[in-house]
Amino acid sequence: MKICKFIINDLVRNGIIEDDLIYCTDQNLRTEEVYQISDVKFILPVTPSKIVCVGRNYAEHAAELGNDIPSEPLLFLKAPSSLILNNEEIIIPEQSEKVEHEGELGIIIGKICKDISANENVFDYVKGYICLNDITARDLQRKDVQFTRAKSFDTFCPISHFIETELDPRNTTVTTKVNGIIRQSGNTSQMVFPVDYLLRYISQQMTLLPGDIIATGTPSGVSKLEHNDICEVEIEGVGKLINRVVKKA
Ligand code: ZN
Repeated sequence: MKICKFIINDLVRNGIIEDDLIYCTDQNLRTEEVYQISDVKFILPVTPSKIVCVGRNYAEHAAELGNDIPSEPLLFLKAPSSLILNNEEIIIPEQSEKVEHEGELGIIIGKICKDISANENVFDYVKGYICLNDITARDLQRKDVQFTRAKSFDTFCPISHFIETELDPRNTTVTTKVNGIIRQSGNTSQMVFPVDYLLRYISQQMTLLPGDIIATGTPSGVSKLEHNDICEVEIEGVGKLINRVVKKA
């Protein structure tokens, strides 16, 4: 099921997407009130308190940037103000000469959690899954050493306009294309630290709140984005996230 938030007739509504239609929901139950997708404006499906990202979680990507595979998950944060939706523009900031795509599986937290124990099912805390593009100013990431600036420019976190609630995140393909050409292709089964490990680990460092986003790391093949490029992240079982890249003159 694909759940979303949208505006129609100046009101914010919740809905379920089925093909070209959106069925409004009331207390999570589907109603008979229905709209065409083309008639609504989507808004962010969540308002996260934080976006927790995992670096170097695919061995080949760690290697392509000259890094070792970490012995425990490498965590960093991305500012929630960097979020944009499908079809919105990624803006290349003046400060960077090398902005790159990182197509990733994103996890949406559904229930507050802290210190998830070994005998709990971590997926009970998951609301669903999104396509996410962890846009990165690679030159600034290297220069600053820490990641805050390089990862948090406005528009640097495109996400799906819906949350897919049914997916096995342990074995699904993550593909990123630029102008129709495949640049990154991986499978979540190749993660150094799989999704259940990551959630348990992150919950031992910080309380996760409903709507928080976990970006689970990117496969190899990251590359520089140029003005007017069309960048597409596709996750099998979730869908596609498409954004145009713009460098303001
Ligand atoms: Zn990333």
